[in-house]
Amino acid sequence: LQGLLNDILDFSKIEAGRLELESIPFELRERVANTVQAMSIPASEKGLELAYQVSPDVPEHLVGDPGRLSQIVINLVGNAIKFTDAGEVVLALSLESESEEAVTLACSVADTGIGIPEDKQQLIFDVFSQADSSMSRKYGGTGLGLAICAQLTSMMNGRIWVESKEGRGSTFHFTVDVKKQREVADRPVVDAGPLSGLRVLVVDDHPTNRRFLADMLTEWAMKPTEAGTGVDALAALAGDDGEAIGLVLLDETMSEMEDYRLVQEITRGADGRDLGVILLASAGHEADPEYDRSFGIHCTVSKPVKQSDLLNAIMDTVAGACAPSMEERTDGSADGVPPRRILLAEDGVVNQRVAVLMLESRGHEVTVVNNGKEAVDAFVTGAFDLILMDVQMPDMDGLEATRKIRALESGGAGIPIIAMTAHAMRGDRERCLEAGMSDYLSKPIQARLLYAAVEGVPAVPREVAPPDSGGPGEPGEPDSGGPGGPGESSVPAGPETPPPAPAPPADPGETAAVDWEKAVVQFGGDERVISELAELFLVECPGLETGIREAIDAGNAADLRRHAHTLKGSAGVFMARATVAAAQRLEQMGRDGDLTEAEAAWPALATELDRLARGLAERVAEAKRKAPNP
Ligand code: ADP
Repeated sequence: LQGLLNDILDFSKIEAGRLELESIPFELRERVANTVQAMSIPASEKGLELAYQVSPDVPEHLVGDPGRLSQIVINLVGNAIKFTDAGEVVLALSLESESEEAVTLACSVADTGIGIPEDKQQLIFDVFSQADSSMSRKYGGTGLGLAICAQLTSMMNGRIWVESKEGRGSTFHFTVDVKKQREVADRPVVDAGPLSGLRVLVVDDHPTNRRFLADMLTEWAMKPTEAGTGVDALAALAGDDGEAIGLVLLDETMSEMEDYRLVQEITRGADGRDLGVILLASAGHEADPEYDRSFGIHCTVSKPVKQSDLLNAIMDTVAGACAPSMEERTDGSADGVPPRRILLAEDGVVNQRVAVLMLESRGHEVTVVNNGKEAVDAFVTGAFDLILMDVQMPDMDGLEATRKIRALESGGAGIPIIAMTAHAMRGDRERCLEAGMSDYLSKPIQARLLYAAVEGVPAVPREVAPPDSGGPGEPGEPDSGGPGGPGESSVPAGPETPPPAPAPPADPGETAAVDWEKAVVQFGGDERVISELAELFLVECPGLETGIREAIDAGNAADLRRHAHTLKGSAGVFMARATVAAAQRLEQMGRDGDLTEAEAAWPALATELDRLARGLAERVAEAKRKAPNP
């Protein structure tokens, strides 16, 4: 009734010549985005795709009546949704002509709905007319909307018309004149500079969306690859050698594979490289960033996608999750990451191990403490770039420890404290932030997210050089867990551990590549943990292998030593004695600075790694069958 009253009021004003258009400055894309986004709920309730595009040449800063312009768009898009049962509604705005002072905008709203019979196509723009007299019973409406649109467009020096085929859909067109803002540069200033050339995989089963997204990316000089199915997406990732895809835009409603499964497949298929994933969420998607992040989704942008939202999300994702790989791409090495001194407060032995393993493999230095009390003490006496703080710990929990530390700090920015908690529930994040924590990770910890969080923290320049010259792969004081820190004794390999006994030469018939059972025991008897570590290793391994191969090729002893050392430590977790021995040999050569035998030592490592990877993959699959992840 209110709609009807508004329409009648509007119309009588127009008829009486009393409706005056405003002339105020407005931002076109902002306005269109908000208008369309307001319609996205009814569209998604009917299962329709609602997409829009504003051509890049349309100026952003205009002067006119944005309210009335929105009213036209709302009417047309509203009708399109109303008269369409399946398919899509697409709004497109382009530039018809431009002068010094003004522009003529051309707008179309296309649907795949019931269409309008030819003989009614003129009539519908008249007052109180509907294409079919049974319409108002079935669809409601007043028959005033289009008449108002016609009046408004003509007041804006434009016109409105329709093209339609019964049963196939309709496209409404209109034009309007608007002035340009004088004071402002007439182009949206989009600085995507540093991201130009970024390869982006667009995964969406909807062709119009894919095209619009690809157009936006191209406008920013990024390089889109389109995939309409999950299978295509995985194939694109697998076949992207050369320039690597660094970012995936993933439509939430991929019909083929359940989204989160697809995300996992995608991140897994990423072969250890850092890959940002942005989820394009349908209207009504209740964003739960923590839940999404636990699946490897870096952030969410709601559909229909607003250009500035998408660009911000891309910037965030690349700056955060993908930063390391961007560095890799520019300087060709993986070790552009300055090591951070990290205080890890965590009572779980295994979680300690997992975190330490992940962090040390990136060259960070980790000091482990077992509860909040120890964390506060260590904070007072030590020098750290950041603290990783478990929330639930005995004696003093992470929240209290954080409050204590904040109280000890005399103002200033404060040390970054990143919470780690297993119960990723709504409200957790807020509780952590309230206690003074600066970021939040949910467990089980994912390497990529952990690195993003840790490496997003600036490394404070050190006063004293690290005691060991071994470079980032070999911190001087690795793993210096508090006295009696649990887990230390169970670490099978690491800088403090005596070098493993030389292993017997590989004998596939006899020696198993991995001693899984023993590894499980070492890690507290929980197979899921070792299985998780194995997955981690499978991701990490190819990069290390390549690193070693390249170091040999380049005759780079320092790199050889560092990569071989890391590989040795990781393989040691699985009691993979042959691999450890092969890596150890190469590490020693690197340490001695004598690579003459390196080429000869390489095949043994490559063969062992291959066996190890296959062995681990089998075990992981088996473990999963036994205890499928919820
Ligand atoms: P109403 O309030 O009835 O929608 P409008 O003036 O907006 O009034 O539309 C007039 C008539 O035009 C509608 O009743 C319908 O018959 C037809 N019409 C408008 N838009 C569409 C569309 N997208 N697809 C099919 N028919 C449409």
